[in-house]
Amino acid sequence: MEMIKTDCGLCINCCGINCYVEDGRLVKVEGTPEHWLNKGELCAKGKYLVEWVYSPTRVRYPMKMVDGRFQRISWDQAYEEIGSKLLALKEKYGAHTLATWTGSVGVEHFEMAAFNQRLAKAYGTPNFFNPEGICFRTRILARQITFGRYPVEEPRNAKLIILWGHNPDESYFVIANDIRERIKKGELKLIVIDVRRIPLAKEGIYLQPRPGTDAAIALAMINVIIEEDMYDHDFVEKWTTGFDKLIEHVKQYTPEKAEEISGVPAAEIRRIARMFANTKEASILEGVGHLNQYANGLQTERCFCILMAITGKIDRPGGWVTCPQIRLADLRVPVEEKNLGYEEYPVFHQFNKRTPPYGSASMMTTAMITQKPYPIKAFISSGSNPALTFPDTKRFLEGLKNLELFVVIDPIMTETAQLADYVLPACTFLEETGIGGFPYAISHCVPYIMLRKKVIEPLYESKPIWKIWSELGHKMGLGEYFPWKTDEEVAEHLLSTSGVTYQQLVEHPEGMYFGEKVYELYEKIGFATDSKKVELYSAQMEALGADGLPHHVEPHQSYVANPEIAKEYPETLLTGARQQEYIDAQMRDIPGLRARVPEAEAWISPVTAKKYDIINGEMVGVETPRAMIKIKAKVTEDIRPGVVSVPHGWAAANCNLLLDATLRDKVSGYITMRGNACRLVKLA
Ligand code: SF4
Repeated sequence: MEMIKTDCGLCINCCGINCYVEDGRLVKVEGTPEHWLNKGELCAKGKYLVEWVYSPTRVRYPMKMVDGRFQRISWDQAYEEIGSKLLALKEKYGAHTLATWTGSVGVEHFEMAAFNQRLAKAYGTPNFFNPEGICFRTRILARQITFGRYPVEEPRNAKLIILWGHNPDESYFVIANDIRERIKKGELKLIVIDVRRIPLAKEGIYLQPRPGTDAAIALAMINVIIEEDMYDHDFVEKWTTGFDKLIEHVKQYTPEKAEEISGVPAAEIRRIARMFANTKEASILEGVGHLNQYANGLQTERCFCILMAITGKIDRPGGWVTCPQIRLADLRVPVEEKNLGYEEYPVFHQFNKRTPPYGSASMMTTAMITQKPYPIKAFISSGSNPALTFPDTKRFLEGLKNLELFVVIDPIMTETAQLADYVLPACTFLEETGIGGFPYAISHCVPYIMLRKKVIEPLYESKPIWKIWSELGHKMGLGEYFPWKTDEEVAEHLLSTSGVTYQQLVEHPEGMYFGEKVYELYEKIGFATDSKKVELYSAQMEALGADGLPHHVEPHQSYVANPEIAKEYPETLLTGARQQEYIDAQMRDIPGLRARVPEAEAWISPVTAKKYDIINGEMVGVETPRAMIKIKAKVTEDIRPGVVSVPHGWAAANCNLLLDATLRDKVSGYITMRGNACRLVKLA
């Protein structure tokens, strides 16, 4: 039996895995004991990689929808028909009529995102979209606005961690394990701020705010830190601008005011502000996407940046630290036309003249439905299931109806694939060689990379996703953009700008470090902002129409912002809670995982349950002005009364049906997925 060391591409953690292959078949997967991150451990999903790769739901060959049924076709026919339709649509509507989409797996799977963009831009459309247009990117952007770069959390060196809207037991199990271990040894203190009482809340101080009031708490902490003279004078004087404005600004956010807004006692806000300011090695650690997806997402991120900066925790051990990033070759082809959202969300698209490579995802379905500013008539989705995972499902499906061409590229026959004109079978990350582990620098502050190795040959007629984009490009006369013939050639090219060679990665199957972190980097090169300092107040943000200093902003449909709607829908909805067994909409067809978590459950408190006469385990309706879904109620003390938390990715209880894509963070354009109004409906 052969053993191949690679990394798990199912989520951003990219754990090291040992894959055992017998007669060309993957038979067993174990965690790599010597891998720096997971040290031999795997999460629930990782333990089922064999079942996942051989899942009966795999797409086996290219298919075309004919008279409501899929027909098997050849690769050549698929490329020929899709290519000629794309060229005809370009002729009729202009290149911007094509929108392409890559799912969140495109973050872990570099080639998927890179080749998707390359085909789109070579065709001439600016319309590449991915989840960064509705998730995570505002965290990066807020740090770039404040520091000119993206310093990353370094929890392993922290002596105090604030888990703010983050449940690592479900999403970053290695961090959760590390936190528990270090608390036990007395090396770490923990504060948890979360609407849901997560398991780690037992290990430290727990605060349970009203949803969407996190900025008010953070601003009050800043108020206390300044009032009680606990800020880092030396750092603030030497390395920040806008502190005078900040002093005036936060006077309105007393802990008492924040208590009124958030429900968190003022005394507790003072207590955690003191602990945080007085611990040098301390860090705010957030969940992926969570706080970004409230009405005040981007500015909440700015509050955290300011908190970290004025207490001197930037580029210092245990704080947020600048980590070297691997510089892979850029495959994008320049397109002059602006992204959708460029005018509407100038901070997101124009800050520092750094236009992101993707448009505002909230505008994508608008263009499909209204045909404005121009019609989007062709849509290619790769490695994603947006019919289930994109917020506001009704709107997404309405957009699909207007398309003249809809193509899905995926290893699995997803709910989205069922709706497509053509479905093309991609192989999984275990069936191709590529760049693995590059997100370590972004998600774990560790400059480490490894080669993701082909473990088995592509199953059925599936192909590596880069090859599908590439072969389609050749068929459309764009072959000059796609000169590569093998996985290895692509990897070599991507690494050509990085300082790491393909050969080095082959010689180090377990991976290797590609750089070294330098603490207090600003002493050498300053910050990469206009002022070369940390910009607590952002003049550029103000020039682009947003507040230069962050405020608390109510969720659109809270009882404060919209008392009328709150009369009809008095509870607050949170969607998207993570479950370790699943990632987005994936893996629900794996029996072993399904046995652990058989169905979706909406968390409600006993107080809320009593109000609606609901008992634990009962099927209930969760209803918003957009729709109602039926879901099992989980009555638990671990959620704030008046809040309903619904997980995502479940076809039978699709939380995205409940959302309204017109409710957005007005600075970032992100669709709000948390803090909207809802009510419960007793069904029986
Ligand atoms: S956390 Fe689980 S799914 Fe994510 S990389 Fe590790 S084993 Fe894979």
